[in-house]
Amino acid sequence: MGYPGPTSRSAELYERALRRIVGAVNSPARSYAAVGLPYPVFIARGQGAYLWDVDGNRYIDYLAAFAPGILGHAHPEIVETIARAAADGTLFGTPTPYEVELAERLQAAIPSLERVRLVSTGTEAVMSAVRVARAFTGRPKVVKFEGCYHGHSDFALIRAGSGPATLGQPDSAGIPESTAAEVIVVPYNDAAALEAALERWGDQVAAVLIEPIVGNMGIVLPEPGYLQAVRDLTHRHGALLIFDEVITAFRVTYGGAQNVLGVEPDLTTLGKAIGGGLPLGAYGGRADVMDRVAPLGPAYQAGTLAGNPLSVRVALKALDILGRPGVYEELDRKGRYLAEGVLAAARRHGFAAQVNRMASGFTLFFTDRPVRDYASASTASKELFARFFREMLGRGVLLAPSRFEAWFVQIPHSQADLDETLAAADAALAAMAADGLAG
Ligand SMILES: *Cc1c(COP(=O)(O)O)cnc(C)c1O
Repeated sequence: MGYPGPTSRSAELYERALRRIVGAVNSPARSYAAVGLPYPVFIARGQGAYLWDVDGNRYIDYLAAFAPGILGHAHPEIVETIARAAADGTLFGTPTPYEVELAERLQAAIPSLERVRLVSTGTEAVMSAVRVARAFTGRPKVVKFEGCYHGHSDFALIRAGSGPATLGQPDSAGIPESTAAEVIVVPYNDAAALEAALERWGDQVAAVLIEPIVGNMGIVLPEPGYLQAVRDLTHRHGALLIFDEVITAFRVTYGGAQNVLGVEPDLTTLGKAIGGGLPLGAYGGRADVMDRVAPLGPAYQAGTLAGNPLSVRVALKALDILGRPGVYEELDRKGRYLAEGVLAAARRHGFAAQVNRMASGFTLFFTDRPVRDYASASTASKELFARFFREMLGRGVLLAPSRFEAWFVQIPHSQADLDETLAAADAALAAMAADGLAG
């Protein structure tokens, strides 16, 4: 199985796109190369929990645009907000009342955001937070964690080979060795490795940058006490702690994952869900640190589109919707139902599988090992994932095309959608088992 029906229009668009758009995609994760299909489906429109491709095939959407999707597509209140905001003009290059309200509401939701700056993407948020940390501490180096993703700025693409506290090598062409030399990469969920790195380089480390719950090697949860150890170690060595909550904020709960994890960072980065489907990022935190940003301080950071009234008014509406009673309880219930059902189906058909879940997001790993870091996540079978992806696509269920991504349940997913998805998963895994792939 592969595509759910005729996809000749997607095929034609793919051929056209290849001639003018690099690799036919505007972000490499959208390619279907890793799942063994010749071209991605081209989506024409979405409504609620569903997407329709250009040939008219319908999909239940768990890709969720790689995590921002939580309200569903074309939510009527978002559509109305966009229309109203557009009618008032979409870009002024001045302060607006909307951004003041959003900054206040973000701080109310995430108390550590004493000061905030709005930007347009998660990449910008992280890049800017690290610059501020360097400006505040006067130190050059950043510690990050193998398998965490922080956008595509130069330093953020550095990762180590294996082994604790080795200095990073570039993970992309086009990044100078001098940048790699300022980045230290250690395994996630390993406080001893972080301690060793900080013992060695601590007086040069501006910031420790971490996804408090990881979303980018598949979902990986922090083990009990781990984030507190990270917090204590950064304090001891005078480094700032940055929580990259681009995925987790307003996904795990209303506010940041930090609200429920009980560990407070110095700086936080936001993106994805906060924009309600429009481009919006933010970073912020301690006032004494953020006051190093221009025009108050010497760390320059700017943006022509930053805080544009269209994105900000949509964000305010998204927060209204997400803040209603019971929203996160219901998302969590649906996430648990689907995650448990998919795992049970995998085991029923004889597959070694693990599920890691944070509220409405979860990852199914085809491995017999608990997944707690990048090394264990990498034991998940590429081949089984690729086959499973194709079997699900063929049954009208759209997942992210990578074993290191997650399923995201959204507000409009109905019980019938979840049950249809579980029936598809059962049939998909049965077909795989019939081909002798289980075990
Ligand atoms: C997606 C992501 C980013 C980058 O955000 P973009 O909007 O794609 O630039 C940064 N950090 C984390 C944790 C992410 O998941």
